[in-house]
Amino acid sequence: MGFYLIQSKHQMTTAKNIQEQALAEIAAAADIAGLEQVRVKYLGRKDGELNRLLRSLKDMTEAERRKRGPVLQNLRAHLEQALDQRRAELATTTSDAALLKLAAPLDFQLPKIGHLHPLTETIRMINDHFLRLGYSLMEGPEIETDEFCFRRLNVPPDHPARDMHDTIYIEEPKYLLRTHTSSIEARVLEKYKPPFKVAYPGRTYRNEKASKTNHFIFHQYQGFVVLKEASLKDLFGTITGLFRKMYGPKVVIRFRNKYYPEVEPGVGPDMQCFNCAGKGCAVCKNVGWIEMGGAGIIHPNLLWMAGIDPKKWRGFAFGLGLDRWVMAKYHIQDIRTLLGGDLAYQYYQHESNL
Ligand SMILES: [Zn+2]
Repeated sequence: MGFYLIQSKHQMTTAKNIQEQALAEIAAAADIAGLEQVRVKYLGRKDGELNRLLRSLKDMTEAERRKRGPVLQNLRAHLEQALDQRRAELATTTSDAALLKLAAPLDFQLPKIGHLHPLTETIRMINDHFLRLGYSLMEGPEIETDEFCFRRLNVPPDHPARDMHDTIYIEEPKYLLRTHTSSIEARVLEKYKPPFKVAYPGRTYRNEKASKTNHFIFHQYQGFVVLKEASLKDLFGTITGLFRKMYGPKVVIRFRNKYYPEVEPGVGPDMQCFNCAGKGCAVCKNVGWIEMGGAGIIHPNLLWMAGIDPKKWRGFAFGLGLDRWVMAKYHIQDIRTLLGGDLAYQYYQHESNL
């Protein structure tokens, strides 16, 4: 009896020692690999400390085994739980540390081997300008209906203005590729109630022969406001501000009267040719000026059609020939290169000329 008593006392002590030691080593483990060593040391199947104790149970009496067995099983469960907890901690901290370690050698300047498309850069600059002025940015579908591309913009089916557009139809006469981004204006007017100031870039399509100055795929940047008060003076100020932002304070622009069905009166900004400074060249077709877009006071019919009372609300709208703005910004002389796939096309060479 004495022998068993001594043995069990020894075992109890050992179990307690193992628990204290193991918990200390688990807490001290610096990484997952170190923790695994601790696990093998105490819970390893072959030579683990706990298994050694469990194996010694077979030398005990039935009563001793019933008493000690559960103590050792509890110890195993306790250590397994502590191991899991520490493993989770280490997984977070060491992976962070590993990432930091990894980040260090990557902290060098990558060579600049690419850049955003000039169109994208220009769109972002103009977006930024209008966001600062409190405009919201919108977008709309490229496949449009006759209603939003024409009718709601004061262009009924028999209107001669349709001839100017050379529309590409998906399903004539109802579905088409939008010929201008004014379709977004029609959609915004239909959906939202004034006051609003919105701006939107977009791709547009017309059945035109591609040349240096025209393309069947082109881009517009458009915007409009509907407020209690909105005058031509506000419109001129808005457009002039954008020209100065894009081309500097010395930019030379002029406004001419123009006709667009969706505005009354209609105007359009021209900019002195960036290529010849007004002397006349192939880029400006020898007139010294480049047409940069169209604008005007929103026609009351558009507001009526959208259920907005034109006696209470006024608005102005402008549409910019975005490709031309890009070409003027980066001194690009052929619009086709904007959508070409030529990787040798380096617009940065023009930067020195700006
Ligand atoms: Zn010119």
